[in-house]
Amino acid sequence: MAAPSNQAAPLYEEGVRMISYCPSCQTGYGSTSARVLGEKDDSYLLHIRCGNCRNAIIALVMVSSLGVSSVGLVTDLHYDEVDRFKDSKTVTTDDVIEVHHLLQDQDRLFARL
Ligand SMILES: [Zn+2]
Repeated sequence: MAAPSNQAAPLYEEGVRMISYCPSCQTGYGSTSARVLGEKDDSYLLHIRCGNCRNAIIALVMVSSLGVSSVGLVTDLHYDEVDRFKDSKTVTTDDVIEVHHLLQDQDRLFARL
């Protein structure tokens, strides 16, 4: 992946148009709302923040000879936080079970904190 930038490349502008409205408040995204998190071949990972409600989505935009497709995910992560969590360890089933048990045992929970 290339280094993230704020510059809009023409290839993914078509894809950005497809993700043109905030899923939370339906406000149209402004031209400066999207920031590139990374790109590989003809795929772009974007962070798009709504100027109205401040909610954000992370969108994967793929450009091919068949057209442009995109998948979006609502997130509470800021642009700078995505990089920090991107390489984090995956949460496993065992992690979830451990947290469940910790929440049932406050003494053990506070000992872990
Ligand atoms: Zn919004």
